[in-house]
Amino acid sequence: MGSHTGTTLEQLARSIEAHKEGLWAVNQEIHTHPELNYQEVHAHNTLCDFLEKQGYTVTRHAYGLNTSFEAEAGTGTGPLIVYNAEYDALPEIGHACGHNLIATSSLAAFLATAEALKANNANGRVRLLGTPAEEGGGGKIALIKAGAYQGADACLMGHPGSRVGTLDGVVNARCMARAGTTITFRGVNAHAGNAPWLGRNALDAAVAAYTNISMLRQQIHPNQRVHAIISKGGEQPNIIPDLTEIQMFVRAETDTALQDTCQRIIACCEGAATGAGCSVDFKWAESYKDLQCSPAMNDRFHLHAQADNLNYLASPPTVSGASTDQGNVSYELPSLHPGFLIDVESPEVGPHHPKFAQAAGTRSAFDAALQFGKLMAATGCDILDDSSLRENMWTEHRQKFSNKASKI
Ligand SMILES: [Zn+2]
Ligand SMILES: [Zn+2]
Repeated sequence: MGSHTGTTLEQLARSIEAHKEGLWAVNQEIHTHPELNYQEVHAHNTLCDFLEKQGYTVTRHAYGLNTSFEAEAGTGTGPLIVYNAEYDALPEIGHACGHNLIATSSLAAFLATAEALKANNANGRVRLLGTPAEEGGGGKIALIKAGAYQGADACLMGHPGSRVGTLDGVVNARCMARAGTTITFRGVNAHAGNAPWLGRNALDAAVAAYTNISMLRQQIHPNQRVHAIISKGGEQPNIIPDLTEIQMFVRAETDTALQDTCQRIIACCEGAATGAGCSVDFKWAESYKDLQCSPAMNDRFHLHAQADNLNYLASPPTVSGASTDQGNVSYELPSLHPGFLIDVESPEVGPHHPKFAQAAGTRSAFDAALQFGKLMAATGCDILDDSSLRENMWTEHRQKFSNKASKI
């Protein structure tokens, strides 16, 4: 495809094919040992051991994160692309988000790209970055802060989804921005039978806040989401609760719209607290930004998918209600994040469904991940080979994020 690595899809396919059984073993090892946010020790060790056996130098516990790692190949001064590997799972339902397939596809793309660079003595560098804790832990936000993407030209990864009809994937998968907060209401304890008038009921404040937010839902954009639980509701019925807590996520198509809705939610809670004679405070987690992938990279990826006779949709009609910390990465540097589709039992089985965990462990899902990894590697090689592509990607990126004028 390019003038430097000179790779073709067939060469990348041969490279991945040669590692197939090793990749299958890694994929199964991660899938059968699901680990939560920042506890992905087994996945970390499995991936690092595999890479070292292949002769790569691996930095374990990279960037101060115990379950992150980094491996790099290529020459020291050339352009640099980063493949992100996720491998965390969900409580109770294991790899129901299929992150074992993300690790596998990015590992396959890394190996194929590194081998293409070596075989052609080409100028460029490729990195595999272990990105823990996507499911709520914001691992990539910590990695951004630690400088993990500094000096990189592009970041590539993908995410599995459920096959719909004859579609093999979605190029420009879009995800929402997401804010998360813990809201605490504080009132005054009192005996609920003997002297309730002395109390200030923090549960009333929480219930009123929840009701205010439920009414607000009619006045926000239909493709926004507000979802919450009352995680602390008091101790027992004969004590007026002095402390209650709501945990909430808010999602919107853009970071700007998200901030606006969050302000309205704050007002809902403050009004409720005032009415109940209570105080309220908010503990906001780092928000996940909306996914803004590089159009130039998307186009290049789509051409490779078409050349491989795969049916990828260029862009879905609506923004998915899911969110990812890859959104934050996409604000930092040109990024790719297609969806690749795997076979599931029935159409209602999607990510975060227990049966999606089963689907993510099959040989056919593994094959889909390798096929996707090959397309990602072809796109990565184009970026390494083609300085005008890199220039286009960065021009687009700077225009989109004009407040972030310089390459990080
Ligand atoms: Zn998920
Ligand atoms: Zn996921």
